[in-house]
Amino acid sequence: MHQPTAQSRPSIYYNYRVHEPWLASAHPMQERKKVVVAGAGPAGLTAALELARHGVPCVVLESELQVSEGSRAIVFTRRSMEILQQVGVAERVTEKGLPWCFGNSYYRGQRVFRMESARDEDDRFFPMINVQQQYLEEYLVEAALAHPMIDFRWGNRVNKVEQCQGFARLEVDTPEGLYTLETDWLVASDGARSGIRSMMGLKMEGASYEGRFVIADIRIDLPLPTERLAFFDPEWNPGNTVLMHREPHGIWRVDYQLPAGETPEQALAPASLETRIQALLAQIGHADKAWEMDWCSVYSARTLTLSDYVHDRVLFTGDAAHLLPIFGVRGANTAFQDAQSLGWHLAFVVKGLASDALLSNYSRERVGAAREIIDEAGKSTRFMTPPSRGFRLLRDAVLSLSLTEAFVRPLYHWRTSRPHEYADSVLNSMGDDNLLFKTGPSHGAPPQNIRLSPDNYLLDYLGGGFDLLFFTEADAIPEPLQNVVTEARARGVPLRVLAVSAAQSVAGADVTLADTTGHFRKRYGVEASGAAYLLRPDQHVCARWVTLDATRLQAALNNALVQ
Ligand SMILES: Cc1cc2nc3c(=O)[nH]c(=O)nc-3n(C[C@H](O)[C@H](O)[C@H](O)COP(=O)(O)OP(=O)(O)OC[C@H]3O[C@@H](n4cnc5c(N)ncnc54)[C@H](O)[C@@H]3O)c2cc1C
Repeated sequence: MHQPTAQSRPSIYYNYRVHEPWLASAHPMQERKKVVVAGAGPAGLTAALELARHGVPCVVLESELQVSEGSRAIVFTRRSMEILQQVGVAERVTEKGLPWCFGNSYYRGQRVFRMESARDEDDRFFPMINVQQQYLEEYLVEAALAHPMIDFRWGNRVNKVEQCQGFARLEVDTPEGLYTLETDWLVASDGARSGIRSMMGLKMEGASYEGRFVIADIRIDLPLPTERLAFFDPEWNPGNTVLMHREPHGIWRVDYQLPAGETPEQALAPASLETRIQALLAQIGHADKAWEMDWCSVYSARTLTLSDYVHDRVLFTGDAAHLLPIFGVRGANTAFQDAQSLGWHLAFVVKGLASDALLSNYSRERVGAAREIIDEAGKSTRFMTPPSRGFRLLRDAVLSLSLTEAFVRPLYHWRTSRPHEYADSVLNSMGDDNLLFKTGPSHGAPPQNIRLSPDNYLLDYLGGGFDLLFFTEADAIPEPLQNVVTEARARGVPLRVLAVSAAQSVAGADVTLADTTGHFRKRYGVEASGAAYLLRPDQHVCARWVTLDATRLQAALNNALVQ
């Protein structure tokens, strides 16, 4: 019998709420579900909220009774915030979080590189915002609990998965014993140690790195701005790397690499933690400041992914699908992009708007994203924890040259998580004018946000279905285009028309976005009336035209729905 702990997890700044377990005896009827989501971490919760937004109900099974232990992921990117905006929690993250743009790398006491993540005047969100993962999960949990289409079950652990003809049968363990649940689709979002992945015998491809890091959250009052700090080869930890990040509630994340051969138990011994954190504080000139420990753990970098995220009725997402190094803030940020993608692909299949072939596209696109991240993250990981003598020689040469030579300094810049562009997606329209545009988001790219007025942005209007951005000087959407839109809607395809117009409101559009200065048109590379962009439900571009006509719109929609 599954007995999740009913004790609140310890923390000096976060009050864990322990929820009541969901018990089958109080809900005897267990008809087959359309979708069951196993695991309520960032990936599972976002997938559930996305499914609900697309009108697909689901059951969420979470083995624990409370959100995750320790801060874990603390840095969230702009793209994550744009996804969180879609599921209704970005405002809460903005209220709680600490936004930032700068990172500093130090070697031998000298700042050798200052990284700036550009903040565009058209972006609603900062490039990065720091907030502890517990808060983020709490906001997502509250949104899920409030949603009538989400049946949330705390204390329910998936024990077994049996693939049947056209559905999956689950054995679920609870504090009062087992019950059986059947579902058309199972979303496996049960995290890095995915039991579902193991019980299905699935192997991941990729590498594991030897370097280990202590991750410790301490409460300390440091008079430093919210900027990332990285120290290479400090005197107290020779040859290794140390990172610091500010978190809300006066908490600082301290991340330091362990000397080769040291075990996690040795590293987490209180005396070892005390000595090293004190040495770090001495190095930054704050040895006199009092501090207390909240949470610590040991972490090692892995770059692993399943080669397919769809296995009959089971769909993998988040850490259950891949394990990515946290350098460059890739863990949870990638999970949000996976979940957003899975949400619309699966919803369209469940609603009969597309065939199961659309799910292969989810797998192809997100495995492609994981492989790109693995490639980039591998470079940063090798710079921070050189895996061989050769890599160490190269890294050390860069470090010492950087004291005097500016040209090597950009090598310090590890590539931060960025949204994958589905440039080669089969959903991209073949017969459009993608290559004729000189600027603007191209095939597969997420949209560039546009500030329409002080607190009013393009992305506030997007999502939930396909969006057609139609740039026009006319006072109405041409009738043939309106007919295609009406016909698509009649088939149940969610499709909105957003007219972008210099002058007036445009008849036939769901909304008109005013572009009196031409700024919007310029950023989207639009030179004449009649141009358009078609955005998928995850907002990525799947077609754009210098001039749009009904035949081309129909073709692009058919293509994006794999019809
Ligand atoms: C110690 C540590 C530090 C980290 N630090 C960072 C960081 O600094 N930056 C960063 O970007 N990322 C970091 N990460 C990674 C980040 O936390 C994950 O990438 C992120 O949580 C992935 O989300 P997920 O939803 O895929 O998985 P998880 O968050 O792991 O969620 C999985 C959920 O599934 C539940 N579950 C498991 N098995 C079952 C089952 N059989 N049935 C039902 N429910 C189940 C679990 O209880 C859990 O709630 C860290 C991770 C760890 C462990």
